[in-house]
Amino acid sequence: MSESENIFYVSTRGMGERLTAGQAILKGISDDGGLFVPEKIPGLKTPLKDLINLDYRQLATEIFKHFLTDFTDDEIINCVNNAYDHKFDCPEIAPLVSKGGYNFLELFHGKTCAFKDMALSILPYFMKTAALKNGMDKKIIILVSTSGDTGKAALEAFANVPGTGIFVMYPHGKVSKIQQLQMETQEGDNTFVLGINGNFDDCQTTMKKILTDHSVKQFLISHNAVFSSANSINFGRLLPQVVYYFYAYGQMVHNGEIKLGESLNFTVPTGNFGNILAGYYAKVMGLPINKLICASNVNKVLTDFFQKGEYDKNRPFKTTISPSMDILISSNLERLLYHLGFNTFEKMNELKQNGKYNVDLSKTGEFFGECALEEETLEAIAEVFEKGYLMDTHTAVACSCYNKYLEQTGDNTKNVIISTASPFKFAGSVLKGLNIGYNDDIEALKILSEKSSCEIPKNILDVLKKPVLHSNISDKGEAIQFLEKFINTY
Ligand SMILES: *Cc1c(COP(=O)(O)O)cnc(C)c1O
Repeated sequence: MSESENIFYVSTRGMGERLTAGQAILKGISDDGGLFVPEKIPGLKTPLKDLINLDYRQLATEIFKHFLTDFTDDEIINCVNNAYDHKFDCPEIAPLVSKGGYNFLELFHGKTCAFKDMALSILPYFMKTAALKNGMDKKIIILVSTSGDTGKAALEAFANVPGTGIFVMYPHGKVSKIQQLQMETQEGDNTFVLGINGNFDDCQTTMKKILTDHSVKQFLISHNAVFSSANSINFGRLLPQVVYYFYAYGQMVHNGEIKLGESLNFTVPTGNFGNILAGYYAKVMGLPINKLICASNVNKVLTDFFQKGEYDKNRPFKTTISPSMDILISSNLERLLYHLGFNTFEKMNELKQNGKYNVDLSKTGEFFGECALEEETLEAIAEVFEKGYLMDTHTAVACSCYNKYLEQTGDNTKNVIISTASPFKFAGSVLKGLNIGYNDDIEALKILSEKSSCEIPKNILDVLKKPVLHSNISDKGEAIQFLEKFINTY
């Protein structure tokens, strides 16, 4: 690509740094606390009619070339081939399943059975490539805060990767039994898992604080290490997610649901606003997307935001049956605000100071916010199961929100529901939706398998057999001590 087509990355808060993609991915978050974004989202250089004929790996390579302009084609191909291989349990990587009048894009066929695998399978390869290119010889400490799924996916991705260490914080008691076991049984000398007494926002705020803390920075320098992030604040997490919007579109064309060029809606179960933001990137690049329907559970900060133009996190945090969406501060919204031309620095200051800010909604027309109550989520599971498809609680939130969208708008644009987790990851809650009793979470897996005639994913069965290796729990204020001890000893 010619020099003029190089894409550089800047902070959403507008301070100084202008980095290559590789540098932005290595760094994770900007020193000013902002998130890295491409100065401009590139338009498609390959015609859509060609993109839809590519397999997942070829398509990923094409999309990445638009953004990773500091990587060679061979480097990109190498990352892609290492990431999207037999780790996924089906050759399509992200299959589209049309059942019961709905189209589901299944993003849970990776190692940890949730959509985080789509991006985290490739992030270590992006980082390794970027480290080599930039002559970085320091140890990379990956910091992760997780509402349940990112933690395990990041642990799997970085376990035993030379030159890296991974430190995960999760809200103790607020993740599903399977999610907790997945993390507690993680192998690898370079892994550390810490349960935090608090909720996901506490974990996320602690992480952002550590990432920008001056004395921690000095500690790292003296240990020849640097931090990076595997959360969706890292641009290397966001980018891989752009791919499957194109892939879903292609499958909808091939199965005759839409014609090439026709618009499509996507309904996305949303927490940190990473997944749906990737859909926005796809749209800006040129994928014909009509509405991006932002589905929330009862922690409906985003629904209120899109309906009223006010982001207000001052409200009680609720623990739900879709825990990966239990979030009151959706980090990636900051990126959207930046791309829409809002003064992000000012808005984020208001959020920090008052817990809220206002924006002019007329700029956000491509989004539609809806939310589902717990009962509605359970009802959706039962309704769709009757029609022959078993979905997890997060996907069910999306399904319920899509039905509300249809009722309100009558929009007959074809729709794809993003299916973000295997129902077996949340077996207990899914059974509740089907009105079937069970004694414990392990039994729930077996009953769900019998009732649905679906097999328990092998990676979930394996977790049940493994010994617990991580059992540390602390208050958020003590997380730094655990981290420094980890860096000292591993
Ligand atoms: C992380 C996650 C979500 C929310 O995705 P965001 O990118 O944070 O909006 C939804 N469902 C599941 C199963 C998840 O793991």
